[in-house]
Formats: sequence, C-alpha cells, structure tokens
Amino acid sequence: MPTILEDSAIAVDPSVREFLSRPMKLFINGEFVEAADGGTFATYDPATAEEITPIARAQKEDIDRAVAAAKAALPAWSKLPPNQRARVLLKLADLVEENVDKIAQTDSLDLGKPLVVARDYDVPFVADVFRYYAGWATKAHGETLDSGWPDTHVYTKKQPIGVVGAIIAWNFPLTLLSWKVAPALAAGCTVVLKPAEQTPLSALIFAELCAEAGVPDGVVNVCTGIGEEAGAALVAHPDVRKISFTGSLEVGRLIAQQAARDLKHVTLELGGKSPNIIFADADIEVAAAQAAQAIFFNSGQVCCAGSRLMVEKPVYDQVLEIVTDEANNHKLGAGLDPSTTLGPLVSEEQMNRVRGYLRVGEEEGARLVSGGNGSDLPGYFVEPTIMADVPDHLTVVREEIFGPVLVAQPFEDVEELTSRANDTEYGLAAGVWTTDVRKAHRAAEALDAGTVWINCYNYFDAGVPWGGWKLSGYGKDLGREAFEKHLETKVVWTNLA
Ligand code: ADP
Repeated sequence: MPTILEDSAIAVDPSVREFLSRPMKLFINGEFVEAADGGTFATYDPATAEEITPIARAQKEDIDRAVAAAKAALPAWSKLPPNQRARVLLKLADLVEENVDKIAQTDSLDLGKPLVVARDYDVPFVADVFRYYAGWATKAHGETLDSGWPDTHVYTKKQPIGVVGAIIAWNFPLTLLSWKVAPALAAGCTVVLKPAEQTPLSALIFAELCAEAGVPDGVVNVCTGIGEEAGAALVAHPDVRKISFTGSLEVGRLIAQQAARDLKHVTLELGGKSPNIIFADADIEVAAAQAAQAIFFNSGQVCCAGSRLMVEKPVYDQVLEIVTDEANNHKLGAGLDPSTTLGPLVSEEQMNRVRGYLRVGEEEGARLVSGGNGSDLPGYFVEPTIMADVPDHLTVVREEIFGPVLVAQPFEDVEELTSRANDTEYGLAAGVWTTDVRKAHRAAEALDAGTVWINCYNYFDAGVPWGGWKLSGYGKDLGREAFEKHLETKVVWTNLA
C-alpha cells in the first residue's frame, strides 16, 4: 500500500483501501481470474514513485479467452431489446456516480491528477456518457428504399459490428473507457478492453460495476496488460471486428497497419499540437488565463492541450505576463493532496521524455520564461514551463510534448497566421480568442482541426463528436457518430411479385 494512503492529513475513502487490498485480476466472462501464466506487472503512484499494487498481466492466451467470451455473448446481447440495453447503461451511470469517491481517488492515485478534477470533472462526465448512449440504444434504425426493380420491397437494417477491442491511453482512465465502451454496448457490440498499463485500476472498479449492473457475462471483459503483449494480441485477433484506440501516433500507425490485414474497422484518436490563437481584440485577461489552463490542465497530458500559443504582437507581452503568473502560481504535489493544483506526470518514462524536450528547446535556442526544471519532490514532476519567441521550425513547436510545457509565438500578419498554424502534421484542435465574430468564424473555417474552440477551450460533451484530422487520426469518439461507427448496414431485398 503506498505511503500516501497512510498519511493522516489525506482523507482516503475506506472503499479505496478495501479495493487495493484485493488481488487485481483480469475480468473475463463475468469472473475475476488470474492471467493464465500467473504473470503480473506493477502500477505506480507517480507522486512518490512507489508501487501501488501488482496487476494481472494478460498475454495472448488471456486475450483469446476474453475474445471468445465476447464472441459467445454477442448474439444474446445484440438481440436484447434495445430498451433493456439502455437500462443496463443507465444503471452503469448510476453506479459510477454512487462510487464517485472510490473511482476519483483511485484514478487520482494511479495517474496523479488533482482529486478535485477526477471527482468533479471525470466521474460526472463518465456518467453523462453512459446516459447519453443509453438514449442511442433505442435509436438504431434503417430505412425503406424505392428501387428501380418493379414489385420489390427494400429496406436497410443496422446491426452491431461485433466484438470491439478497445485500447486506451492513461491520461483520462475512466473517461476514455466510457468513450469506447458506452457506444459499443449501446449498439449491441461486446467489448474486450485493454486499459493503459500505467493506469489500470479504475477499469477494474468498472468491471465490478458491470457485474453489479447486470451486464451479462462476456459482454464487457477487461484485460489489464502491456501494449506490446495484450494490446497487440487484441489487435491481431481475427474475431475482433473493430479496434477503438486512443493513444500515440506511433501505436496508431501500427494498429492501422495490422487492422488492414483483417479489414477491421478502426477508430484512432491520436496526438496533437494544437494552436491556441489570441487576437489583439480578445478579452485578454480571460484569454490569457484560459491559455494557461489549456496547457497546464492534467499537467499538459492532454491530446488537445493548447501547447502552441500564438498571440498577436500588440498584446504578446501582456499575455505572456499573465500566463507566466498562472504558471508560477501552481502548487505541485500528489493528486490526493487537496492543496495540489498540478500533479506529477504519469511515469518516469514520461517525465524523462518531457525533460528531454526542455533540453532540446534550450539547445535549439528557445527563450525560457518560466519553469524548465524537475522538482525536489520524489515523484515524476516537471515544473510548468513556458518558452517564448519560439520560431516555427523548432522541435518544441513541431512535436507533441505531452507535458506542462507551453511554446509562445507572436504573430503580426493575420493572412499568414492560418498557414503557420496549419503547418503541422497534426489536426486535433485549435483555440481562437477574439471579440470579432467574423474573424472568429473565418479562422474556424481555415484551421485544419477536428475541433475549434472560439473564446473557450477544452469544452467537451457526450453528444458532441470528438476526433482529429490528418495524423491526429480518423473516426470520432462521442456524439451520434461514435454510436453509428459500431453498426453495419444490411440491405434486404424482397421480390413481391
Ligand atoms: P503513450 O505513449 O501515451 O503511453 P501508447 O500509444 O503507447 O501511448 O499507449 C496507448 C495504449 O496503447 C496503451 O493501452 C498501450 O498499452 C497500448 N499499446 C501500446 N503498444 C501497443 C501495440 N503495439 N499494440 C496494441 N496496443 C498497444
């Protein structure tokens, strides 16, 4: 048990201690089971670098068992009346809310995110997502079509794609789980989920809730494990008809290549290097404060982090000053410590990666305005960092850092602005801050991004589709589109003559 749970200053829900005192097993066909070879891996508290608990490590054999269970459960689940599937999803939403402290504290411990964010943002969003897709469960329908053949009756029917393999990143553990699992279940698909190895815990709480909610055995299976082992086996499995993935570009490419062999459906939500653009006519106080939030939220470990701040020259210094103040005001610490506003990075590997970018930025000549260091704390911390006046060609402008590191750039020529902002291989999101409605919508039209936020940032909703362009991936999470992407269309012709 990590020492933070013994710290009397930190109020830990008894359910968390009870949960962590049990062995962490795979959830296959409605049962918690060891990995076939008995293997485990460790998950760590990133605030202290201490091991939290060993976790069952699924291998190909376990994935085979889980996919077989999901395949066996598919006919009954897909034929269950849609209103009954909806009820199960609604029940899951209720149970997620009832277990808010257990889930939020566990995710906060496992990932390091401030508890208040896990409790007030992630968990309510997860419940929303399940409720939203409960609504869609009853709304899959085909159409009747008039054909050129006389005396025929033609209709289409929507049927679930089949077994879905869901593979997710660590930055929003239960939230990303809900984005993948809820639309799949609503559509009548069954799921094998592979959570990220850095943050497997809340997915196992979710498995318990599935059992409690009456999700039939085999409909949801959770296989904790390593990407190259359990993840790769899931992608390669011929009975998996769709891979729903959130993670890195590198692994996304691999998945797309492997999925091509079996012509699996694929949804990929990958990285980003999102420009956040502040025009001189914006409400500068608000825009600058939000620009800081756009990069430092979740310690910058957000695929759509506003990591490239582009500011019109006349207000550049003013914005930089406010953003720097915001950065300097953060208090680093463990997510479970209520005074923390900026948690650690998820792992040593991630911390070293981000620190590597800080070195590269310095070597290539970026001007350091704030931060730039690790911290004396024992865990995987990086100070909120701002680099200013950074030319477009520098590595820190071009590559996704995935940490609390902002690069700031002035712009003068508005004509040139969108081509500079679009000169990136990614296309996930962008922010635009201005009080001129024409300028705002012209910029929104011109930016290559799956989402453009005008005078706001990081707004999400269960009903609003989310996903990138270009190397940020394809397919959408959330909204109607994610539900429809779990359905096949069948055409039925009848000769009435
Ligand atoms: P990050 O670099 O942010 O950890 P990854 O893309 O490596 O992102 O990981 C996202 C998810 O993909 C994790 O669940 C991880 O285990 C999984 N993963 C990693 N490598 C593979 C792979 N070769 N095949 C399938 N899944 C993988």
